[in-house]
Amino acid sequence: MPTGTETGYDPSLGRKFVFVTGGVMSGLGKGITAASIGRLLANAGFDVTAVKIDPYLNVDAGTMNPFQHGEVYVLKDGGEVDLDLGNYERFLDTDMTSDHNVTTGKVYREVIEKERAGDYLGKTVQIIPHITDEIKRRVREAAVGSDVCIVEVGGTVGDIEGMPYLEALRQFAHEEDSENILFTHVTLIPYSKNGEQKTKPTQHSVKELRSIGLQPDVIVGRCEDPLEEKTREKIALFCDVPTGAVFSNPDVPDIYRVPLVVEDEGLDEYMMDHLELAGEALPAGGRDTAWRETVTRERDDETSVALVGKYGMEDAYISVHEALKHAGIATGVDVDRRWVHSEDLAEGHDSQLADVDGVVVPGGFGSRGTEGKIEAIRYCRENDVPFLGLCLGFQMAVVEFARNVLGFEGAHSAELDEDTPHPVIDLLPEQRELDDMGGTMRLGAHATDIEPGTLAHDLYGDTSCTERHRHRYEVNLEYIDGLEAAGMVFSGVSGNRMEILELPDHPYFLGTQFHPEFRSRPTRASPPFVGLMEAVLSRQEETPGVEERPAVGGGN
Ligand code: GLN
Repeated sequence: MPTGTETGYDPSLGRKFVFVTGGVMSGLGKGITAASIGRLLANAGFDVTAVKIDPYLNVDAGTMNPFQHGEVYVLKDGGEVDLDLGNYERFLDTDMTSDHNVTTGKVYREVIEKERAGDYLGKTVQIIPHITDEIKRRVREAAVGSDVCIVEVGGTVGDIEGMPYLEALRQFAHEEDSENILFTHVTLIPYSKNGEQKTKPTQHSVKELRSIGLQPDVIVGRCEDPLEEKTREKIALFCDVPTGAVFSNPDVPDIYRVPLVVEDEGLDEYMMDHLELAGEALPAGGRDTAWRETVTRERDDETSVALVGKYGMEDAYISVHEALKHAGIATGVDVDRRWVHSEDLAEGHDSQLADVDGVVVPGGFGSRGTEGKIEAIRYCRENDVPFLGLCLGFQMAVVEFARNVLGFEGAHSAELDEDTPHPVIDLLPEQRELDDMGGTMRLGAHATDIEPGTLAHDLYGDTSCTERHRHRYEVNLEYIDGLEAAGMVFSGVSGNRMEILELPDHPYFLGTQFHPEFRSRPTRASPPFVGLMEAVLSRQEETPGVEERPAVGGGN
């Protein structure tokens, strides 16, 4: 194996790689399929990690617009990455780093920097071998310490941008023993008008794969329903795989059930056999069943929680959505997450918020829709409606309080109104100097000290917590005394930065400068979200006129 010395990788470590490509079209849930495979291998006792390859030229997702690309997910090391990494962290219950998101921007930047530094000794620098070597190096490095690394190639086979990656994976497989690599192709099986499952698009995408030297070992058909036997046979025949290597991945009402479906199909066993891992796997009866138990737990109660934001698509707030779901699982509640457009709220908010049980104001940038968010917060504060503010939502809770409780007219965040007479949210003095140099965003995991005896202390059950951040502005220290004198409690701080706020006289009014949603997992719901759900449930019990709602059940 020639790559051992070149890349510093020791092939004798015997690590396994599952490469996942997509056929026919994007948006098939390839990432969820890949993450589900990972979950099952983890249940069988293996250390599983993942690499998401994004063939775009951006170095990272930090500059990407949530309208177009969905949420920017933040990792503990401060990496701003594609939201798919969030799915991997949630499914695998692991913390990843920026190295697990390979982008064309990162790969080319590295190669160009090496070229400028003279590292290539006068050679012509080319896609093959220099770019492909860099891709392989990154994939191998991200896999260090794991038994199995799932490598998902974003986009669809045939995309120009994806070509260097597929070539790199071809070389990778060539350099490895065949039992260490498994190629999985996730593809679409549409129905014809007369209700027949059609395999031709799959045949074409596999033909495309084969033309670049890749033969799938496993084909997963995304279809409304399970694949019929004759569909499997046809795919097997024309794509040159055993019938037993064609698996269904039918639509399910909840993405967390995909691992269960895939397990029932036997995909995990097939993969472990191919990767020669079956002997090391926990016996079928002794595997980790926490996922199955968690996602199938009864959820008797129903609540509705409004998410007040400006990006009118679920993907832009996917981690908040998922964190609400996790808190629902933990408290036995089915959460109806309602979308409320912040711009509609600036006036006449009551009609939209009147029948919700709780409100979340998530993070964001820019002034559009902020007056509506402030109105939603006022409504919650005045009407004892459980409220959770995240990052910008935390900042707007300070603004609302300054305006309407302290009477500071025009109070605002300096980010959103440069001329505000009361910049209750501002850059810290030391940040202002840095700001001239750019890149002042506070990113990634930082510890917060929690004041004993507060709601935050109750929620976290600890005097500190470590959560992820992505912000630039802070509570202005000059206003803290005034805010506290009027009843706002900063129950979490990190040095001179305010991290958690709460209103002790309110049933549940909590804001966090950090983003707890990024650490929430199905099996480990985030404390501020669980607190919100518990507050919502007790409000439902107390509120007259809602007795017909089912009693509190489940429990965590
Ligand atoms: N725009 C605000 C800041 O930079 C909040 C950021 C956020 O909500 N992620 O501080």
